[in-house]
Amino acid sequence: MKRIYMDNAATTRVTEPVFEAMKPYFCETYGNPSSVHAFGRDARRAVEEARRQVASALGCEAREVYFTGCGTESDNWAIKGCAYAAKNGRKTIVSTTIEHHAVLHTLEALEKEGYNVIYVPVDEEGIVKMDEMEKAITEDTLLVTVMAANNEIGTIQPITEIAALAHEKGALFHTDAVQAIGSMRFNVKEMGIDMLSLSGHKFHAPKGVGVLYIKNGLRIRPLIAGGAQERTQRAGTENLASIVALGKAITLANENIDAHNACLTEMRDALIEKILTRIPETRLNGHKDKRLPGNVNVSISYIEGEALLLSLDLKGIAASSGSACTSGSLDPSHVLLAIGLPHEIAHGSLRLSLSEENTMEEVDYVVDQLEDIVKRLRAMSPLYNG
Ligand SMILES: *Cc1c(COP(=O)(O)O)cnc(C)c1O
Repeated sequence: MKRIYMDNAATTRVTEPVFEAMKPYFCETYGNPSSVHAFGRDARRAVEEARRQVASALGCEAREVYFTGCGTESDNWAIKGCAYAAKNGRKTIVSTTIEHHAVLHTLEALEKEGYNVIYVPVDEEGIVKMDEMEKAITEDTLLVTVMAANNEIGTIQPITEIAALAHEKGALFHTDAVQAIGSMRFNVKEMGIDMLSLSGHKFHAPKGVGVLYIKNGLRIRPLIAGGAQERTQRAGTENLASIVALGKAITLANENIDAHNACLTEMRDALIEKILTRIPETRLNGHKDKRLPGNVNVSISYIEGEALLLSLDLKGIAASSGSACTSGSLDPSHVLLAIGLPHEIAHGSLRLSLSEENTMEEVDYVVDQLEDIVKRLRAMSPLYNG
């Protein structure tokens, strides 16, 4: 049976060039980057090369790049590290209602510790309400954290404008760019970004390696105590092979970004158009244009998302009903509720997320299968009389 992977927002395949780049760092160049001998020096050189590759992709200096264990760690570190280091008496963090749980649950933990958090709402297309953002940021704001692009509905936020609002009030700006890397160009200096989180496994590097960019001169509290790695800011022996892979993957992603976006946009728009025209009572979630080139999120009335996923899986198609963290629980996605979907519609939502390895033939196959499955599931639904 054909197997089709359209869940690239959950994780991506490690591509061959990335795998080839990391291979020598398991069995050959396996030194500890902190060791002074030749084995260690070779490993150190590879880590520093990867750091330069990340810096070049983000438009920053290598010394502003810190390797972490994942995107979640980077988000935790940026937000907690900044809150705990705030010396100016400021107690408020401003964010949005549609952040990833790595941000939202970190903010909830800080609320329990006495910090004040303002969650700015989004409009029905999933774009942050800028008038409310402007009002929320005050002289008490220590940090504004807003994702560059949403992992469920793909909406792209005006982070350059939000960073400027934060700086006007003397607050710092962090962005969770985990979904955006590989689809959006970043220049952290021009965009006014003080901290940026990214994760390797969302752009064809392995799982378990991330980056936090921290602007030079900004001191935040380290999360992990131990050795002097990462200029004493993030202890723990470096994940050498994965760091090398991340450096290679971000370089390839940035080199190919225009072709990648053109290819994905074409497949994305074909998927959306075919689903909306061939399957009645469907709607697109998120903004039509201000969205990631690989993201499709649709609500299909009278359908249970989990039933849909299982039926697609039986046909060899891997998709998601929201985010991997949301599926498995019966609560509808907080993002879909935040854009105003009623619970029953949010429950019948499907996310298809593309990579450049998908094809138009796969797009057609998926729409054919989806049309059949929806017909069959609706025929069994007591609510549907179409
Ligand atoms: C995947 C993801 C994360 C978490 O990254 P991990 O490396 O899986 O911990 C955080 N934020 C967003 C937007 C994501 O898509």
